Amino acid sequence: MFRISQFMRELAQAEETGQWPVASRRGTGKPPGPVVIWNLIRRCNLTCKHCYALSADHDYAGELNWREVVEVMDDLKAFRVPVLILSGGEPLMRPDIFDIAQRSKLMGFYTGLSTNGTLIDREMADRIADLGFDYVGISLDGLRETHDKFRRLDGAFDRSLAAVRLLRDRGVKVGLRYTMTSLNAHDFAPLLQLMRREHVNKFYFSHLNYAGRGNIHRGKDAQFQSTREALDRLYDRAWMAAWEGLDEEYVTGNNDADGPYLLRWVQRRFPHWAATLRERLVAWGGNASGVNVANIDNLGVVHPDTMWWHHSLGSVRERPFSQIWTDTSDPLMAGLKAHPRPVQGRCGQCRHFDICGGNTRTRAQQLTGNPWAEDPGCYLSDEEIGLAGGLTPVRQSSSPIFIKEVPYAHAA
Ligand code: SF4
Repeated sequence: MFRISQFMRELAQAEETGQWPVASRRGTGKPPGPVVIWNLIRRCNLTCKHCYALSADHDYAGELNWREVVEVMDDLKAFRVPVLILSGGEPLMRPDIFDIAQRSKLMGFYTGLSTNGTLIDREMADRIADLGFDYVGISLDGLRETHDKFRRLDGAFDRSLAAVRLLRDRGVKVGLRYTMTSLNAHDFAPLLQLMRREHVNKFYFSHLNYAGRGNIHRGKDAQFQSTREALDRLYDRAWMAAWEGLDEEYVTGNNDADGPYLLRWVQRRFPHWAATLRERLVAWGGNASGVNVANIDNLGVVHPDTMWWHHSLGSVRERPFSQIWTDTSDPLMAGLKAHPRPVQGRCGQCRHFDICGGNTRTRAQQLTGNPWAEDPGCYLSDEEIGLAGGLTPVRQSSSPIFIKEVPYAHAA
């Protein structure tokens, strides 16, 4: 995750005081354990076009039960995991979701909920507010027509927006989650307007990744130019919000080239802060899969992140998460935890490798079969990454390779 607003606030403070805020330069502030995104249930009332979990509205056999969830939580706490993001499928379809969330809060985890919002009525909103979720992310993929088409349900937009309002009115921190493709790029600017009109203070911009139905729809991924235009808009917006002191937060996910692209933005507008920002971006370090971000799926299988469901590291039914996560006998995990990562191609030669970390390895693997190949989702030009001198390997073209699932395959 790339926290644009954090950097913009620092930049605004630097512009105001003439000094980059000192505390922020002391270190990365990285937590001791990873943030865990936990897909507690695969069932979903929707079948969205870009769902990485390929969920459907039926039960999936073999999911972790309450007792097993409790054991995992105890292990996560001992491993000093700071954040649990409860996700699905649709997590609110899990009958014991509020028991799990309550326990999570009592144990001191920062507890987030990732939901499509369509099941949140007044009563559900009251429960969410009473329980004290730290954050609720609701997916909106565009305005009404676009969103309903993406979500394959008439009325989905109205229901999700109603949920946003119900939660907001109860003081719950709620954010919009938007995944951009060429089919919904035209709704990006209107969604930003809607965010402000509805007094929502967080916007999560997700680049399309190649996993689940996102892989099947790869051919419709937004082209690099529209990605750059969207990022320019987002950076301008986040900058103005920071400068005006608005309580708004903008973050992106699934493309760590956003870090070097922010540096480029600052080089154009505030060149005197570019060197300092670069230091901050290097401290951030780019892609965190397998290091600071982890995923546990509905069956208890651990993955480097949610886009690696085709790669299993082991099951919490057989070994505690803490053991699985620290075991680098898996070559993928060893590579992800290596510093620097053994990334090849244009990423390996890129002048921004220390910022971006080589970006998203899933995309490289899905396209070439090699998880250490260059990331085909990088939208920076050869010139921008310092390869204008003819050293550049040929960029990968787009023809999907479908990776077979490995042991612990998900129930159908
Ligand atoms: S070339 Fe690779 S390492 Fe460089 S910015 Fe792009 S994705 Fe990141």
